[in-house]
Amino acid sequence: MPELPEVETVKNELLPFVVGRYITGVTLVWEGIVKEPSVDEFCSRIIGQEITVITRRGKYLFFHLGSQDFLLIHLKMTGSLVVNQDPPEPLKFVRAIIHLDNATSIYFRDPRKFGVMRLIKDTDTIGTKLGPEPLEEGFTPKVLAERLANRTAPIKAVLLDQKAIAGIGNMYADEALHAARINPWRPGGSLTRPEIKRLHHEIRRILWTAIENKGASVDTYFRPDGSEGSAHYEFKVAHGLGGKTCSACGGPIERVVVRNRGTYYCPRCQPLK
Ligand SMILES: [Zn+2]
Repeated sequence: MPELPEVETVKNELLPFVVGRYITGVTLVWEGIVKEPSVDEFCSRIIGQEITVITRRGKYLFFHLGSQDFLLIHLKMTGSLVVNQDPPEPLKFVRAIIHLDNATSIYFRDPRKFGVMRLIKDTDTIGTKLGPEPLEEGFTPKVLAERLANRTAPIKAVLLDQKAIAGIGNMYADEALHAARINPWRPGGSLTRPEIKRLHHEIRRILWTAIENKGASVDTYFRPDGSEGSAHYEFKVAHGLGGKTCSACGGPIERVVVRNRGTYYCPRCQPLK
C-alpha cells in the first residue's frame, strides 16, 4: 500500500507534468472511482480547469484547481498514477484517465479498485481529521509523546492510526519500530522518553530515506513514469523483505498479527519488557 514516501514521490514526479496545465477531458473506465459529487458533476466541474499545484497530506493527494476546487485522490491499497505522453500502451487495470492540454494523460491504475477520487471545496475536511505530518519541522519528540500519551493500543496500531500521525502505514511502522528497538505490542502510552526520542528519530530517518529511494515497489506501486521505487531494498523487516534473520543481531525475524495487520519484528532486538 502506498504510504507517505510513495505518495510524496507520486506528487513530486507528477508536478512537472501537470502544473499550469488544463484538464481537457476525463475518461472514467470505472465510474465507481468517483465518490463525490455525481459523475456528471465531477466531470463538468473539472474539465477546463487549470491544475495550479499538487499537495500531499498524509496519504492524500490534492490537485488544486483554478476554480478553487480540489481534486482529492487516495491511492488506497493498490493505486498508482502513471503519466503518459505518447499514445499510451494499453495499461491494465486503468480505472480513470485525466487528459491534459499538453497531450499528457494521467492514468489512475488500480487493480483492486479501492482508490478514490473526490472533488471537494475545502481540504480542511480531510486535514483536520489527520494527525501531524511526521516530516514537518513541528513534529518534535514532544509532539510524538503527546500523540502516544495514554494510548493503550499496541504501538504498532497507534503508528498506523492516521489520526495520531499522518502517512505511516504497515511497512514503515515495522521498519521504524525495528530500528528503534521497540516491541510492536508495547502499549503506545508505555514508551519511555528515550524510546520516544529514538522512535521519533527513526520514523523521520526511515521516511526521508524512502523518499530519496522513490518509494517501495512491493505489490503494485509504480512511480509516475511507470518505473519502480527502490526503498524496499533497504527494508530490514517489513513485508519479510529483510530475510529470515535480523541484520542487526542475526536472530530470527518473526511474523505476528497485531490488530489484524501482519507485523514483522525481531524478538531479540525488540523484546517485550
Ligand atoms: Zn535483531
